[in-house]
Amino acid sequence: MSKNAVLVINCGSSSLKFSLIEPISGEVMVAGVAERLLSKHAFVKVAFKGSKETTPLIVPFDHQVAVNFIVEFLHENNLVECLSAVGHRLVHGGEEYSTPTLIDDVVKYSIEKLSKLAPLHNPVNLIGVNAAEHAFPDLPQVAVFDTAFHQSMPAKAYIYGLPYSLYEAHGIRRYGFHGTSHYFVSKQAADLLGKPFTKTSVITAHLGNGCSITAIDNGKSVDTSMGLTPLEGVIMGTRSGDLDPGIIFHLIEQLNYTPEQVSSLLNKESGLLGISQMSNDCRTIEEAIINDQDERANLTMDIFCYRIAKSIASYMASLSHFDGLVFTGGIGENSDLVRSRIVNSLHLLNIHLDDNKNTDIRFGKSGLISTESSQHCWVIPTNEEQVIAEQTYQLIVGDK
Ligand code: ADP
Repeated sequence: MSKNAVLVINCGSSSLKFSLIEPISGEVMVAGVAERLLSKHAFVKVAFKGSKETTPLIVPFDHQVAVNFIVEFLHENNLVECLSAVGHRLVHGGEEYSTPTLIDDVVKYSIEKLSKLAPLHNPVNLIGVNAAEHAFPDLPQVAVFDTAFHQSMPAKAYIYGLPYSLYEAHGIRRYGFHGTSHYFVSKQAADLLGKPFTKTSVITAHLGNGCSITAIDNGKSVDTSMGLTPLEGVIMGTRSGDLDPGIIFHLIEQLNYTPEQVSSLLNKESGLLGISQMSNDCRTIEEAIINDQDERANLTMDIFCYRIAKSIASYMASLSHFDGLVFTGGIGENSDLVRSRIVNSLHLLNIHLDDNKNTDIRFGKSGLISTESSQHCWVIPTNEEQVIAEQTYQLIVGDK
């Protein structure tokens, strides 16, 4: 039995996703998610050897209980001896971390300090790190940062039109997120092209609940749509994306919103949900368009797709050459409707979809969806866990 397996942990505020991955073959040995943590309805779902099981968690229903469940599960199935390390998804690595990093007390301290930039993410990511350290004191713990891939951006892409002192004194700049996903799918595109990654230039559209677009020039991220926080950029499930900052003052000064209400409005009540007043879920909006010819749903989808197309087109200014466009994430991988509406606005860039391929390549399939004479356009399912497992393993093997 392999002794290289990496336990990958992605810890959110009320969920903890985990998988046990053999990093060389990419085999997923176990995959699971603990959901509704910190509520008495907390449970954990595990897929192992072709079967799926759901188990309720016990008091105090927290992240440590979820990790303890994983440890027990690994023991019961004699999988603990396979483990070589734990790899953690960390959201914000600021300017300090552009590569995977072995976690020690100093690293934990600086991740905690970076919580100022990612208050919704870094503290809960650290809960996962602490729980795993407690459960596996002898295993190396590695942090793989969502911001890391974007650290190659040039200053012209990451400095805002604000007084420079805000960047120097407070780190206010574009950082970008979903870096692990943009890295994975752009590298896969290079493989599909048969080109070295360092000579491949693509635009990647990660469209899930959160959405971001990245320009990758010769294998390096050179611009991305998310900014200091994951709120900037294109419209998302519940986030507004870009808007006139004057709207915030209007909400506060004329409509008496508190800062907390503005934050909730922009992060949780806007985007697909806010415009449609129906759902943040792309599938529900598509069904309303197709089954009910619902006009608001149609407008929501038009706005969503148009803004994404504009963002993609703008990144032509960032690239030295263009090898193609990649769709990924739950929406990018599955919605032929979204893909066709986006690409229909990109005909001047000579991107044209083959309708049959576009309808066919969904639900985990990967491949070209463009016509023969078009610039390339691919669907490539993302696999952040695989990258975290690989990078974690490479780091600890390199350390030996
Ligand atoms: P997260 O950002 O939480 O990882 P995902 O990448 O799983 O999110 O994407 C979730 C989104 O994918 C939801 O808006 C969901 O509606 C959409 N989605 C999933 N399957 C389909 C489908 N078959 N057709 C259209 N949209 C889909």
